[in-house]
Amino acid sequence: MSIIKLKSVSKFYYSKKNVTSGFSKINLELNAGEFVVITGESGSGKSTLLNVISGLDTYEEGEMYINGLETSHYMEEDYENYRRKYIGNIFQNFNLVNSYTVYQNIELVLLLNGYDKKEIKKKVLDVIKTVGLTKYKNTKASKLSGGQKQRVAIARALVKDTPIIVADEPTGNLDVKSAESIMKLLYSISKEKLVVIVTHNYEQVEKYATRKITMHDGKIILDKKIKETKNIELQPSNYKNIKLFYKWFLAFRNTFNIKTKFILLLIVYLVLTLFVFSGYSSLKKIDYDNSNIGYHPLFSDLSSNRIILNKKDKSSFTEEDFDKLEKIKNIKSIFKNDLVLDQIFSLYNGKYYFNTKIKSINEVKKLKEGNMPTNDNEIVLGLSKYDWYEKDIFENELALNNDNGIEIGNYKISGVTKLKNEYDTILYVNDETFNKIRKYININYSDVYLHLNNSIYKYNTDERLYYQILPNDKVDNGTALVSDTFDTYCKGEFCLNKDIEIESKNLYYEDNVNLKIKKVFSKNSFSKKTGIDKDKYDEYSSTIFISNDDYNKLFLKDTYQISMFIDDMKKDKDTLAEIKKYDYNVYYMKDMMREANGTINGVLKVIREILFIIAIVILFFISYFIIRIILKSRNTYFSTIRTLGATKRISRCLLNIELFID
Ligand code: ADP
Ligand code: MG
Repeated sequence: MSIIKLKSVSKFYYSKKNVTSGFSKINLELNAGEFVVITGESGSGKSTLLNVISGLDTYEEGEMYINGLETSHYMEEDYENYRRKYIGNIFQNFNLVNSYTVYQNIELVLLLNGYDKKEIKKKVLDVIKTVGLTKYKNTKASKLSGGQKQRVAIARALVKDTPIIVADEPTGNLDVKSAESIMKLLYSISKEKLVVIVTHNYEQVEKYATRKITMHDGKIILDKKIKETKNIELQPSNYKNIKLFYKWFLAFRNTFNIKTKFILLLIVYLVLTLFVFSGYSSLKKIDYDNSNIGYHPLFSDLSSNRIILNKKDKSSFTEEDFDKLEKIKNIKSIFKNDLVLDQIFSLYNGKYYFNTKIKSINEVKKLKEGNMPTNDNEIVLGLSKYDWYEKDIFENELALNNDNGIEIGNYKISGVTKLKNEYDTILYVNDETFNKIRKYININYSDVYLHLNNSIYKYNTDERLYYQILPNDKVDNGTALVSDTFDTYCKGEFCLNKDIEIESKNLYYEDNVNLKIKKVFSKNSFSKKTGIDKDKYDEYSSTIFISNDDYNKLFLKDTYQISMFIDDMKKDKDTLAEIKKYDYNVYYMKDMMREANGTINGVLKVIREILFIIAIVILFFISYFIIRIILKSRNTYFSTIRTLGATKRISRCLLNIELFID
């Protein structure tokens, strides 16, 4: 029985305008062991016939039998199956995978046909030897000569072990010498197979052909047996589907072994990554900046690690309280009487002027320049990158004033540290300085009333009398030292020996002191009576000086509110939970902060995020299409593997895996 039999088979090509005939009413029987040469002028239908025989093309009329079985009902899948089991193709343009080595090209067929790598090796090396390419087994296909390429193609067809090998103009691109050796090779394999070759150069194969078929205008005009052949029974090759593991193996190989493709993809990927990361980090930066310019109506130290505590019964903190709180872990510093933190101070001399907050020296981790303080009049200044200074900042003292313009003292900057937040300037002081500073702060958080000559004057807001109250070492307890400008308020009398009362009321306590004005200072006696430089008279001309004890009784009684600063913010929940075990009012700044322009920022944030997501989606599609285009350029690869026996489904699967890896 013939392995291939055509009975009145016709092939038409349909186009919009007309129908052309590839060949018509062909009758043909082909047997195993034959070396069939189809020849004829160009356009006579040779390729069409070969394609129908090898199942690459369908036919419209008649019947083709394979091993005696009809094929007119064949669907695409059946043809795929047929090609896998029966056909080894050899093409004029070789159809090799150029980026693969000789070995890999041949290995590819076997992997596609369901073999394991272990079984493959010997087979591949054997067949490479058969076609005489052992020396080139690790050479890339693109580096081979035409003749060598066709040998690889033959080896590939051989290793597939199919009963039929078809070759369309296999020597069309080769020089005479290579062509001769290829024909010889094909002839040598024809003894155990059916080999059908198409050529328009019959002389080249004359000495090998066992049968010559000449075509003209879609018809066979000559079918001549030249040599007798032994008709042997041929079995279709065993065929399994490629294993999943090898699909991935091939996809990986394809991803990395074409350099230009790999580099292009890398660039696409890098651009995408860069965009995503820079976009994401700038979003984060905006959030971070917004959270730092957040505000709270009561506090100006908005450090997110700040925890504010007071007692539920409004009593003052005792030593016992501090003992408890100091044991809590993950706390950087505790501020007794933390009201200082919410004040802005000025620090200046002839050259520099800073508005700063005050914090504990314990918070300084690293200095940018200079040293940590070694005595009480030294401080560390924290500056943002926008703050400017020169070396001489360490040389001259600067005056520190509170926001009422009261001079707290002169300090030397021993070191400078760098702050992340561009809006901050911070003065880091030791406990001693901190206590000195807080003395001038509490008065701002109290309602203060001065009873003078049957009138009551409210501190800071009274338009009739502007005054300030300050402690002074030279004033005795129970007495007051006032400026001679106060005399007008004592109703035509001198204020000397008048009684005054100062009342102080705040959130936590009320207290008062009754004082006798024992001394009055004038411009001339100012310095002598207060110990303050005489040039500063103007600044203190409306001041009531009282003793330190009286001052403390009114304004610096005890500690009613403290702040604790968390060290490691990653563990803030634990620390907070530990503090909350005790019975205090606890206010955590991170939770209390309100964003400046809260709603607007919220809306802007959502818009920014949506735009960012849209940009990512667009970029994703752009890169997806770039990758698609790159893979499209690999059409040759996929048509090649299809001729090697990969079904449409498998090719698509390979493509998808490769796309996924890309
Ligand atoms: P040969 O291989 O002998 O040069 P072909 O088999 O390629 O000839 O072509 C046979 C005839 O079929 C020619 O007339 C050609 O124009 C036509 N033909 C071949 N392929 C197609 C096609 N894909 N579409 C339309 N006509 C085709
Ligand atoms: Mg042709």
